[in-house]
Formats: sequence, structure tokens, C-alpha cells
Amino acid sequence: MSPRTAFAACVLAMISPIPSPTRAAEADHVEYAIAVHGGAGAWASITEEDRAATEAELRRVVALGRDRLAAGESSLDVVERVVAELEDSLYFNAGRGATFNALGQHELDASIMDGRNLDCGAVAGVSSVKNPVKLARAVMAETKHVMLIGAGADAFAKSHRLELVAPEYFWTPRQRERLQKWQARHVDGARAPAEEDEPESIEEHHGTVGCVALDRDGHLAAATSTGGLEGKLPGRIGDSPVIGAGTYADDATCAVSCTGVGEEFIRRAVAYDIAARMRYADSTLEQAVSVQFDERLRPNDGGLIAVDRNGRIAIRFNTAKMARAAADSTGRLEATLGR
Ligand code: ASP
Repeated sequence: MSPRTAFAACVLAMISPIPSPTRAAEADHVEYAIAVHGGAGAWASITEEDRAATEAELRRVVALGRDRLAAGESSLDVVERVVAELEDSLYFNAGRGATFNALGQHELDASIMDGRNLDCGAVAGVSSVKNPVKLARAVMAETKHVMLIGAGADAFAKSHRLELVAPEYFWTPRQRERLQKWQARHVDGARAPAEEDEPESIEEHHGTVGCVALDRDGHLAAATSTGGLEGKLPGRIGDSPVIGAGTYADDATCAVSCTGVGEEFIRRAVAYDIAARMRYADSTLEQAVSVQFDERLRPNDGGLIAVDRNGRIAIRFNTAKMARAAADSTGRLEATLGR
């Protein structure tokens, strides 16, 4: 090698972008992360067109949430916004596309939690508010309570100028058709829903929505919204508005949003159990989530999304399918309705 070539090689080596161990670790560092779900279930009768539209919606909202996190917005604002977008969509069992109860009415549930300080808000059995997640946020921010239900929650929505809608807003052709099928299976038979002895199954149910996020400041948040289980008894409340069951967020551990047979998630306090295992047993997020599916929940009970304070995302379900999406600061972006 001539002295000239040797000098050039030396300069090149000095400026070449071979990552040092520290730089590689920095590149792996996740600054912000977001996961979204659109419900776990069989999705057996979904058409190819609806599947594609559902995935497109998930991709759109996860990208929207990611961009807001990238711009420095708080995880709390982002989970509220993303869930509100999904509530406005016809493709999910929340807000506009919410399922009917056994009497052909809508009773919507939602919750939100701020991992910074364990502030949380929830509403259950509401029927007049366009975006139950916004009402849950208002309960959190503007009252000293955690949960409001039914008529009291609807009155609070009115007095706090949340957008209200007439019952017809929720009567989408999609859900009406599902109600008719459900009634044909249940109400036309000899037994009323309350007398059924079969355990509740998530087989036919899907479409609850949820979002978890980690922001650039290291804060976690979670939100969940649902119309509940199809054909539920009037007054029934599932896990979605129950803090610790369907929703939980704590900056010290993780943020979680669940979907599935709510009764089973309430019994096992699934969302809080994940955080508790991380806090007390030093489990990783992945380990704490795995225990729920390997040892605690029954097959076909549902699924969940979670993110930890390092931006690691966990997505698990034990139904046939789950609608889900994830994105983070490393460029990851995926959305799917599938196995
Ligand atoms: N977990 C919801 C409930 O039990 C339903 C669902 O996620 O599909 O109300």
C-alpha cells in the first residue's frame, strides 16, 4: 500500500459509520411506542372487504398516534385521541359501531388511565355521548371520582358540553343485522339470555377498542372503549371500564388494555396483575403477559396489548383472531386482523 493509499484508508476508517457499542444501544432505544387493538374474537363471518377496511383503519390510527408521539404529545392525549377515532369508525364495537344489548339498546363503557400519577376515569352504561372515552377523561380531570354510570354519567356529559347524539346514531346497519342474528339464536328460543347455562364465549364477539402508549417523556397511558358483549343483559358492565381489569397504566411498570369476555378479565384483575408481577416479582412485560394466557385465562377468553416503560410492546390473544396494530420510534409499523 502506498503511503497515500494508507493515509486515505486511515481517514476513511476514522469517519466510517461503524457503530460503537454505545451508538448501537442508542439506536435500539425506543423513544416512544404505541399499540392499538380492535378486539379479539373469531371474526368468522367478516368479509374480505371489511377485513381490509378494518386493517386500514388500524394502520391509519396507529400512524396518527405515532406521529403525535413523535411530535412530543403526551401518551394520555394520544390514547384518548386514537380511541376516539376508533369510536367514530363503523368497524369497531365502540362508539358509533357499538353492539346492541338484549333489549336492542346501546350501553357504552370506557376508561382511561394516566401512568404518571395513577389518575383514571371511567364511564359505564352510557347511551347519549358520542365519544365515551372523552367522557371518561372528563370524569378523571373534572371530578374527584373514578367512575360514573348510566343516567348520572349521561347528565355529566351534558353539563360538561361533551358531544351528544340521538340513539339512532348507534343504529348502524351492521350492528342491526348482528342483533337480528343474535335474537334469532337467543330470544326466539325457549330461554332468555339470563337463564343460559353455557359459559359466555367471545366466539361471536369482537371489536372493542383500546390503545396503550409510551411518550417521549417516559410516561405511559392506556384507554379502552366498548359497546360490551353482544346481547348482554341491560345493566351488565364488563372489564373495559374497570380499572385494573380491562385498563391499567403505571409509569413504574406498564400500560395495558384488554379485550374479551369481560367477566373473566374482572375475576383475574388481568391488567393490574401484569403490572403487579412486574413490580413485585420483577417479571418482564413479556413474562407477566404470558402468565395470563398460559396459567390464568381460559382458552378463547380474549387478548390484550401492553407496553412497558422501555417501549417494549406485548400483544397476546387466545381467540382465533385479534385486530391489532403497533408502531414505535424505531420505524416499526404494523397492523393486522388475523391469527
Ligand atoms: N371486554 C368487553 C366486555 O366484556 C368485550 C370485548 O372486548 O369484546 O365488555
